[in-house]
Amino acid sequence: LLAVRGGGHNVAGKAVCDGGLMLDLSPMKGVRVDPVRRIAQAQPGLLLRELDHETQAFGLATPLGVVSLTGIAGLTLGGGLGWLNGKHGLACDNLLAADVVTADGQLLRASADENPDLFWAIRGGSGNFGVVTSFAYRLHPVGPVLGGGVAFPPERAREALRFYREFAATCPDELSTTAGLGVDADGRPTVGVGVCWCGPLDEGERALRPLRAFGPAEDGIGPMPYTAVQTAGDEGFPPDRQHYWKANWLSDLSDGAIDVLLRFAAEKPSAATGIGLQQMHGAAARVGPTATAFPHRRDQYDLLLLTQWEDPADADRSVAWTRAFFEAMRPFAERAVYVNDLGEEGADRVREAYGANYGRLAAIKARYDPTNFFRANQNVAPTA
Ligand SMILES: Cc1cc2nc3c(=O)[nH]c(=O)nc-3n(C[C@H](O)[C@H](O)[C@H](O)COP(=O)(O)OP(=O)(O)OC[C@H]3O[C@@H](n4cnc5c(N)ncnc54)[C@H](O)[C@@H]3O)c2cc1C
Repeated sequence: LLAVRGGGHNVAGKAVCDGGLMLDLSPMKGVRVDPVRRIAQAQPGLLLRELDHETQAFGLATPLGVVSLTGIAGLTLGGGLGWLNGKHGLACDNLLAADVVTADGQLLRASADENPDLFWAIRGGSGNFGVVTSFAYRLHPVGPVLGGGVAFPPERAREALRFYREFAATCPDELSTTAGLGVDADGRPTVGVGVCWCGPLDEGERALRPLRAFGPAEDGIGPMPYTAVQTAGDEGFPPDRQHYWKANWLSDLSDGAIDVLLRFAAEKPSAATGIGLQQMHGAAARVGPTATAFPHRRDQYDLLLLTQWEDPADADRSVAWTRAFFEAMRPFAERAVYVNDLGEEGADRVREAYGANYGRLAAIKARYDPTNFFRANQNVAPTA
């Protein structure tokens, strides 16, 4: 058994395996930025913060995720949803080409012109098709941005989520948002909204005015370097904690869904546990569902239940809360999940992650990896 490790951030622990070999790509941190052609060549051991650091030296960026300690490799191969998705799409939508070592030991170029089926499959099909040794990304001028967020008091939590639903539904491509639920010292649910506006700052001030005028208790929105937004989420994920995640796509933040969110937020098992809605819209949502292997193309939220604890004795209680919450949200959510959010959840959930593209992925898998050599991942079985 072979496990492939990029950034090692995958919550299902797919970068490691028992009784097998781990191919650790984390020392491969080469990156070359061509500011004229606006392309970055990046090796698979890079973390988001390391790639952002190099591209931002030229005022450029490619869309990645919202916690900068994540690896670019696993993130891109599964899709890659972050602060620039409304304007510039997912990470995989900005992939121009990749070098892939396949199960039979060949080094193949995957792009629109070379091995286009492989290129299609690695944009959402995860690590199923080979070891990617280099990614070529399209870059965009980005920054300074309007970043930060607002926090609403507990007595306005429900109202704030209803307002957020309308605000997010109408926000321009340049603005991508998240909503998070916490609790105050008295155990009452609170709501925060995080933002990143990547267009002209004066237009952003106007676009954000309704949110800031809705009466938040705290307002930390302001101009900042893009790298500040990219690293703002890091402190919520220090090393050495235990994690259990459940996630689903949520198209409609209905009043019923809001009731469940608030009810479970009040019973959060730890302060560090995150309940989040990460908005996907605009450019990321306009790509066709079969244009790349990433099938979930619509305006929606990635509903994230990110449970964390420190003492292993808290594991049962934490996992039980997460599962109960997930089940209570299921009637409101899609039967669909982002592959990079999946834990060890079984074959049906893997199918929900690849959706309508599963059959084509299985056929391409049969071509490039007929023995399923690369199976320490959210696995697509090769069709016979
Ligand atoms: C705190 C946190 C925040 C996150 N935030 C976001 C976010 O904002 N947006 C988002 O889209 N995702 C997010 N994710 C999910 C993230 O995209 C996945 O965990 C992703 O798998 C991480 O990639 P990695 O390279 O670090 O992972 P690894 O654990 O190293 O690898 C993950 C999978 O990819 C395969 N793989 C890795 N490198 C290669 C390679 N070079 N070639 C072939 N296969 C490879 C591995 O075999 C494994 O199956 C977050 C995760 C965490 C833990």
